[in-house]
Amino acid sequence: MIIAVDGPAASGKGTIARALAQHYGLPHLDTGLLYRAVAAAVLREDLDPSREADAVSACSFEDYLLDDPWLRTDEVGKVASVVSAHPLVRAALLNRQKKFARQAGGAVLDGRDIGTVIAPDADVKLFVKATPMIRAQRRHLELRKNGVLTSLDKVLADIRARDERDSKRTEAPMLQAPDAALLDTSFLSIDAAVQRAIAIVESKTNPASTPA
Ligand code: C5P
Repeated sequence: MIIAVDGPAASGKGTIARALAQHYGLPHLDTGLLYRAVAAAVLREDLDPSREADAVSACSFEDYLLDDPWLRTDEVGKVASVVSAHPLVRAALLNRQKKFARQAGGAVLDGRDIGTVIAPDADVKLFVKATPMIRAQRRHLELRKNGVLTSLDKVLADIRARDERDSKRTEAPMLQAPDAALLDTSFLSIDAAVQRAIAIVESKTNPASTPA
């Protein structure tokens, strides 16, 4: 079974994808990390993320780099959304993601274009969303916990800018696939959102056992 989980930053898609992978015993790929690894290499080598050739030259990173906690910072996330708009960067990372999706037994992948480009034939597609203000509040809280002092306004502006870049780019923009189920986590606890996601998977894969 292939499960595709898409949605904007801080919507809860990563948490939901990890929980689904654990629940169904499937391997999980956070595809955002691949773009973050490219961004990190660009930053480290002092390249220009807006130049496609520079970003492409950073695509052959070593796998161990994916474990670097720096990749998960907002600094790297912002640059990831710049490098990810280049068609040649997306092309360089495409096969790896498709191969992961098609492995025997299935997989859970989360990102922006899983249901539309990477695994258009996924058995279940979820598009996870939450209002920009709620996503900003979640991110702000997380940053404060990690000792990063910044204003809620700044976090909200960053979230809106990233949404704009990710949804307006011409190549594989962030988009809800027509056959994806929408899961709005704005007013759901993590646990409730995960339960809702499991119920959606069950209703798609095992409709007879799902209460009407
Ligand atoms: O999901 P995450 O915030 O880690 O993704 C970082 C950036 O990578 C996103 O803002 C987006 O620009 C890019 N991305 C993408 N396609 C994906 C996953 C992430 O373009 N499938």
